[in-house]
Amino acid sequence: MSDPHTTPVAFIGLGNMGLPMALNLMKAGHPVRGFDLSETARALAATQGLPLAGSAHEAVEGAAVVISMLPASRHVEALYLGPAGLLGRLPAGTLLIDCSTIAPASSRLLAEAAVAQGLDCLDAPVSGGTAGAAAGTLTFMAGGDAATLDQATPLLQRMGANVFHCGGAGAGQATKLCNNMLLAVLMIGTSEALALGQSLGLDATVLSEVMRRSSGGNWVLEKYNPVPGVMDAAPASRGYSGGFGSALMLKDLGLAMEAAVASGSATPLGAAARQLYAMHCQAGQGGLDFSSVLGLISGQD
Ligand code: NAD
Repeated sequence: MSDPHTTPVAFIGLGNMGLPMALNLMKAGHPVRGFDLSETARALAATQGLPLAGSAHEAVEGAAVVISMLPASRHVEALYLGPAGLLGRLPAGTLLIDCSTIAPASSRLLAEAAVAQGLDCLDAPVSGGTAGAAAGTLTFMAGGDAATLDQATPLLQRMGANVFHCGGAGAGQATKLCNNMLLAVLMIGTSEALALGQSLGLDATVLSEVMRRSSGGNWVLEKYNPVPGVMDAAPASRGYSGGFGSALMLKDLGLAMEAAVASGSATPLGAAARQLYAMHCQAGQGGLDFSSVLGLISGQD
């Protein structure tokens, strides 16, 4: 990357996270061209003024950096690998930054294939939710070469407040899986406490504030209360729309459980959380934000 402030960027995947991230790069002065398979996502991006390409291949023409923000491993592998994948068409020296949350093994596969083509590659999943993406305060958990991350850091700082180097290829994903397993457990535990409180006749706002300032305080109570109306900016207060889908949380818990099996780790609460999110998704709620698991806990699914 010659000038990190004006590097042309291709941004693939303009969903709940990708669009606000791409917009922050654009606002910081980068020439950005975006692409999403979904017409709805493209239409929303167009209303926000983001320049769009007609395909992923068109988006990466002339780009020094390709950023992807896709749902799961299979989407990332389909985009980059295989005969029709992007890898074979990118000039040597192009930097790939995959911000999707996917299996660490898929990130390693991508990194090996990229390096074999003379490309640089980082896995850089994020934490901070859609609010963090919009505010440019995401936390990046990066895996890959330290010098490559140094080069990418000015760009990542346009979209985030914290950039961590977690280790080699796949280490960003491994870190993200640990974080999201903890987040799921916190969401379920907090929902359970709030549902119990409401059934005891307590006011959810008062109970939330007491727990937030007491030994039960956690990120869910700080930023993401699952009870509608308690926190105006939380997805719960807009019908659990936007945010982080329950189906995506179920995917992350599945990845965490695969990793636990592979490493022989005991993750009893993570396993219970995966089952609860599987039940919630089976009940047809996979498209709702993950805080809607409160409905399962309180018997409303
Ligand atoms: P999303 O479903 O809102 O967006 C994903 C977008 O990718 C969709 O618009 C889809 O059409 C597009 N897409 C899929 N395959 C494509 C392809 N081959 N080419 C172009 N576009 C393609 O998901 P999201 O909430 O933005 O999450 C994206 C990733 O970030 C996921 O891995 C998720 O686990 C992770 N994540 C999400 C949050 C959150 O709060 N939403 C927070 C941290 C991490």
